[in-house]
Amino acid sequence: MEADQPGDMTHSQEPSMQNELNPWLAAETRFNKAARLLEMDEGLQKVLRTPSREITVYIPILLDDGRLEVFTGYRVQHSIVRGPGKGGIRFAPDVSIEEVRALASWMTWKCAVANIPFGGAKGGVICDPALLSQGELERITRRYTAEIIEFLGPEKDVPAPDIGTNERVMAWLMDTYSMHTRQTTTAVVTGKPLDLGGSRGRREATGRGCMIVALQALERFGLRPENTRVVVQGFGNVGGMAAMLLARAGFKIISVIEYDGAVYNSAGLDIEALMEHAKETGSVVDFPKAENMGRDEALFLECEVLLPAAKENVITSKTAPHLRCRIVCEGANGPTTAAADEILQNKDIFVIPDILANAGGVTVSYFEWVQNRQGFYWNEELVNTRLEEIMVNGFRDLMKYSGKHQVDNRTAAYMLALDRVAFATKLRGLYA
Ligand code: NAD
Repeated sequence: MEADQPGDMTHSQEPSMQNELNPWLAAETRFNKAARLLEMDEGLQKVLRTPSREITVYIPILLDDGRLEVFTGYRVQHSIVRGPGKGGIRFAPDVSIEEVRALASWMTWKCAVANIPFGGAKGGVICDPALLSQGELERITRRYTAEIIEFLGPEKDVPAPDIGTNERVMAWLMDTYSMHTRQTTTAVVTGKPLDLGGSRGRREATGRGCMIVALQALERFGLRPENTRVVVQGFGNVGGMAAMLLARAGFKIISVIEYDGAVYNSAGLDIEALMEHAKETGSVVDFPKAENMGRDEALFLECEVLLPAAKENVITSKTAPHLRCRIVCEGANGPTTAAADEILQNKDIFVIPDILANAGGVTVSYFEWVQNRQGFYWNEELVNTRLEEIMVNGFRDLMKYSGKHQVDNRTAAYMLALDRVAFATKLRGLYA
């Protein structure tokens, strides 16, 4: 790792720093704070914290070279109180039950903040997709699906892609489920190819959601897009799309930060040309219409909006003091550590927390599920209009909640989510 990488300032070996960087501890810290402020009953806290179901399966696969191997897979349904479980399936060598469990609860809170009728779930298989052939990946996906099949279904649990999985994997999952149930059931999974019931607008949805909430935040500051300087970290699906849509809306994207360097133009970068450049050269660096810059230097540029859309633990107790933005719009999951929350608050930086800011993706997944069940497909304009409605309502609900309880936005987001899930839990009552 190079010295100027923002992550460098966070990757200390001190035990306190290791704890700060542990996303599960961060989620726990925020849950505890929200529950305390809501004066939630201890027993109810226990119910909300504990997953509804955890499934471990062992997946025997015949590899291409003739060897037999057994892979381990998980599916955790954290909550199915507000609707079917919803959450991605991750194929990665470092998948663990602890990680899947924490990510499943994260999905519960995200769906609750966006107020879409899903609970939270997550799945994973310990494997390295880079070392597996397409045939091996297909066999793993099909056997994993078959092993957890009684727990899946449009009304039970609806997976989606995550790290190491994609549209192709979702198509295999849908086909396996459909073969077992003897009927084509597109609504069992989202993130499918368009020709198999995927939704228009899904690929852009997370970036578009970031743009919608950023525009809402600007209104509160009386800022106009043309006077708004934006720094985007991560030029992948979320960051690239958000940068393009923000630029089209008139924002000045003054810097884009990637893992190998950053580019800067005080007048605003030509994002479409930068995308072409990145596609051709594999990097944003050396873009002719900008100057190269170190990653930390770019992260700490004076700007109105900082949009971290790369990875977790970018804004930490070490980096937060150096930020010079007014708004942080969290495109990535977990870009800010719990210790940095307080620093941002003291610096009066307005945070649009990840569980709202990047909920555009799961919202359009919800639309995909609705369209599959209706058997009637929407045009992109309708998808985008409905996405805007949900994101704007989510933002307004959050503002109302943080005002009412006089808390920062992140705490308000967790309180709102816990409150909604707790309310539904009480309404349903305990089946015993
Ligand atoms: P992606 O792989 O398409 O893009 C991530 C980009 O960040 C890549 O271009 C990568 O090179 C870059 N990057 C990695 N490390 C970096 C670093 N240290 N500094 C600067 N750039 C770095 O992934 P994505 O789908 O855009 O996801 C990005 C984040 O958004 C993740 O945290 C993901 O969990 C979250 N997210 C994604 C979606 C979605 O719909 N894709 C939805 C919700 C949340």
